[in-house]
Amino acid sequence: MQGFNKYYPPDFDGEKHGSLNSYRGKHALGDRARKIGEGILITRFELPFNIWCGTCNNHIGMGVRYNAEKKKIGNYYSTPIYSFRCKCHLCSGWFEIQTDPKNTRYVVTAGARQKDEDWNPEDNGGFAIHDTDGKDKPVDPLAALEKSTESQNYLMKVQAPRLEEMQGLSDKYNEDPYAASVRARKKFREKKKVEKAKEAVDNAIKSRYGLPAGLKLLEDGSSEVDEAKREWLKARRESTRSRGTKVDSIVSLKASILAKTTKKK
Ligand SMILES: [Zn+2]
Repeated sequence: MQGFNKYYPPDFDGEKHGSLNSYRGKHALGDRARKIGEGILITRFELPFNIWCGTCNNHIGMGVRYNAEKKKIGNYYSTPIYSFRCKCHLCSGWFEIQTDPKNTRYVVTAGARQKDEDWNPEDNGGFAIHDTDGKDKPVDPLAALEKSTESQNYLMKVQAPRLEEMQGLSDKYNEDPYAASVRARKKFREKKKVEKAKEAVDNAIKSRYGLPAGLKLLEDGSSEVDEAKREWLKARRESTRSRGTKVDSIVSLKASILAKTTKKK
């Protein structure tokens, strides 16, 4: 049991014992540090992926937690590599998982099998995010030069003029905002005046012919008006023609009847 209180016994000597923990022969981390002499600390470790236990062959789901023996086993550059030794809760067999700082992941090193569920974007019609292969290739100086010249050209011919144009436009608008506002409002007022006059005329027509107020009248001289006139003329011509044919047929009937009667005589 750890010393939780700060009781200093009468025989405690600061110079000799240093701290209360060392006076009692305890570690500050308590029972979790029972194997600290071997460089092992007991920590709570959560499985970062699904595995199959190598001893009992049971599936163990991601997120199951173990009291794992954490141990530093090496370095990747300055980053320590830790191993976590866990005891399977189904069969008490041991398995070990390590950190892999190079690939920023965990790997199973002994006693179990990892379920392969890594999503590979290249298999699914996407692009790999980490392209490590390209960086290993030696850089072709001529290709690099060509690339930089191309980008320089693009900058000079496309980007710079566009930027200047935008700057000019911005300057124009910001030169005298008051004058621009006055101009815009004046234009808007004139337009509104014309519209109001037209509305008054339309309302007069509507009230004279008893048309609904929501009806939209066409403007004079618009193509729809011309078309409507043409249609009307066409319809009138046709109606007069049909009347003409009717008269003709009556006349011919009369003539044939007359002819038959004269024959009989
Ligand atoms: Zn097991």
